Amino acid sequence: MARYTGPVCRLCRREGQKLYLKGDKCFTDKCPVSKRNFPPGQHGQSRKKVTEFGLQLREKQKVRRFYGIQESQMRKYFNMADRMQGITGENLLRLLELRLDNVVYRMGFAASRAEARQLVTHGHFVVNGSKMDIPSSILNAGDIVEVRGKSKSSPKFKETMENHRGTTVGWLDVTVEDMKGRIVTEPTREDIDIPIEEHLIVELYSK
Ligand code: SF4
Repeated sequence: MARYTGPVCRLCRREGQKLYLKGDKCFTDKCPVSKRNFPPGQHGQSRKKVTEFGLQLREKQKVRRFYGIQESQMRKYFNMADRMQGITGENLLRLLELRLDNVVYRMGFAASRAEARQLVTHGHFVVNGSKMDIPSSILNAGDIVEVRGKSKSSPKFKETMENHRGTTVGWLDVTVEDMKGRIVTEPTREDIDIPIEEHLIVELYSK
């Protein structure tokens, strides 16, 4: 399935909440969700009865769009989460959080997950000292993510670090001046700040 390349703010409006897909704009009052919080399109403001399936589908789509992943990948993560010990929905979110592109974003080395994915693909990061350019790589507690030597002097990363807001998540430890971060521990459900009812996704995939 092809990756969605259309206007991403429509995706937030469709889900009725901020998915933070646009970087800095998401934190300003230019965010369309703040101004027009109803689904896009001609029938966006009409009231529709939402079925149980509809609710489950929306939660799944929300998570897919939040992390920028395709349906086949989502199903793969669900199968992995289902085989793990513990609560399947929480396992699913933990796997998604531990993707390299998400970790790069959470560490504040990119303005959005889409930008993080592009930077990883272009080979700007090393993990535990080795070049890693696969955004979907699942990391582990203790892994160290660092901007690659040559890339550290690029204007892009210098600017990113000057504007670095600091990490907002406790499971990561970032040293901004070294352009480096460590996964202190795997995130718990409380650490994952997305307003999702993940049990609805489990119910959808378990049918
Ligand atoms: Fe979503 Fe960001 Fe666009 Fe707001 S600005 S609608 S949060 S992508």
